Amino acid sequence: MAVKHEESDLYKIRHSAAHVMAQAVLEMFPEGKIAIGPPIEDGFYYDFDLPRPLTPEDLEAIERRMREVIAGDYEFSRRELSADEARELFADQDYKLELIQGLEEGLDEYGESRVEKPVITTYRHDAFEDLCRGPHVEHTGQLNPDAIKLMQVSGAYWRGDERNPMLQRIYGTAWETAEQLEEYQNRLAEAEKRDHRKLGAQLDLFSIQPEQMGGGLILWHPKGGLIRHLVEEFCKSEHLAHGYDLVYSPHIGRSTLWETSGHLDFYAENMYAPMDIEGQEYYLKPMNCPFHIMMYNNSLRSYRDLPFRFAEWGTVYRFERGGVLHGLLRVRGFTQDDAHHFCRADQMPEEIDFVLNFCLHILRSFGFTEFNAYLSTRPEGKATGNPAMWEEAEAALEAALQRADIPYEIDPGAGVFYGPKIDLKIKDAIGREWQLSTIQFDFNLPERFDLTYVGEDGQEHRPYMIHRALLGSMERFFGVLIEHYGGAFPAWLSPVQAMLIPIADRHVAYAEQVAGRLKEAGLRVEIDDSSDRMGNKIRKAQEQKIPYMLVVGDKEAEAGTIAIRLRTNENLGPKPIDEFIDMAQAAVAEKRDL
Ligand SMILES: [Zn+2]
Ligand SMILES: [Zn+2]
Repeated sequence: MAVKHEESDLYKIRHSAAHVMAQAVLEMFPEGKIAIGPPIEDGFYYDFDLPRPLTPEDLEAIERRMREVIAGDYEFSRRELSADEARELFADQDYKLELIQGLEEGLDEYGESRVEKPVITTYRHDAFEDLCRGPHVEHTGQLNPDAIKLMQVSGAYWRGDERNPMLQRIYGTAWETAEQLEEYQNRLAEAEKRDHRKLGAQLDLFSIQPEQMGGGLILWHPKGGLIRHLVEEFCKSEHLAHGYDLVYSPHIGRSTLWETSGHLDFYAENMYAPMDIEGQEYYLKPMNCPFHIMMYNNSLRSYRDLPFRFAEWGTVYRFERGGVLHGLLRVRGFTQDDAHHFCRADQMPEEIDFVLNFCLHILRSFGFTEFNAYLSTRPEGKATGNPAMWEEAEAALEAALQRADIPYEIDPGAGVFYGPKIDLKIKDAIGREWQLSTIQFDFNLPERFDLTYVGEDGQEHRPYMIHRALLGSMERFFGVLIEHYGGAFPAWLSPVQAMLIPIADRHVAYAEQVAGRLKEAGLRVEIDDSSDRMGNKIRKAQEQKIPYMLVVGDKEAEAGTIAIRLRTNENLGPKPIDEFIDMAQAAVAEKRDL
């Protein structure tokens, strides 16, 4: 958690609310054990080891007690302790003892190593004292009891590791005002309606079946598969039109490759165990990069050949703990829309300009209009590559952001060790930010693989290498797309664009005739020839979020028309078939909603 957030009022409020909640829970279960309770993006949580599962009634009682503690206006006081003093204070709190041990070893409360050895501090209010580095509000009275709500209980493994005990995590939210809380709850209700896991099942787009086939692995059903095809088809043709080459690489590679690339050193924890093939170790690929580099290195490259833009829809496999898997958003196998740019120093600024604008162009095509970019620069100490290259690369990234005229923030020192990068986030229909594109310089792999090209001077030179993921992964992007549109995809992406609804059995033949003409015009059409009443058929099509419902009865059959209803409920009335074809084709061509 970045320091800038720690000093914000909301951070202090949420952190303090977590303490007050832990106090209330321990009063209810004096034998209970407390683990960690950080503030999070929209509230806070605390993990507990309790003798029985919590009920909704428990949460109400905990909330009531929290109000009393808030009304008591107790002061939060901080003190520093030695490790031994802390062990004595938390003698019967096993998780805290483990945290104290970690603090002694230089790990923070999230188990991450910190450069400076942390000082052990506690915060106390009323009779509750917790291991904590703060900061907090000054008094519990500064919390607004009408702006705090306990949301839910879920299971969470200690330290997120499924080999550890399962704890009960109480999520709460806390704001400054009751109005903010209400707005938050409204946003949440909206987000729940759009949940891609729910819509994925309702619209039969994809499934995940962990019991039978393992967690974090996605089955793309026909309708989801069609959307993915449409997304890829559009993107691939845009790539080809913009100077990219499409390449393909295998799913596994010999250990020697991952040794040269360094992945077995710095990325091993994300890789699956190797398999043995004729006495040699092969690994599932966690990234496509080394393969693209092998392609670059397969021929002698001249300055005239550059830039190269290798693009691949490459399926990679990365280790994720079972506890953190989440629908399409956090998976174990996914397909990146990956590309690697190789260019000369003099081409680099232009190449960066190009790639940023290309990303924006594609993202805009999917209906995203608001962007935020984050530029991460050279980290202290551990960076590879020469500082002059870092500076040139950072300058090119920032200049490109300025020219693209999108809002951006610089995160100084937040770059990975091998190069600066831009992360591009989009805002969805309900204002949530999602990170999709990354444009990442690499000063490490060109060295490790000794990438060169022959310059105009006849000498060997090192090319610039840039990794670029645009939509990110097809799985995650699909999740974002489902939630952004709430499942009501624009016409060009809708698996079924029009549902023909014959009013009675005798209109089915005419419906088939119309469907034939629409299919010839390239539209995706189905006929609901079930025995349901018309109202029911319309409701079913609306539930499937089909853009156009075309009702046909006696009048339409006689006049050769169709009665058009939009999924927005708008009724356009009877229209000639050709007029509908023009309208739908235009919506598809312009990637409009309807
Ligand atoms: Zn605290
Ligand atoms: Zn890469």
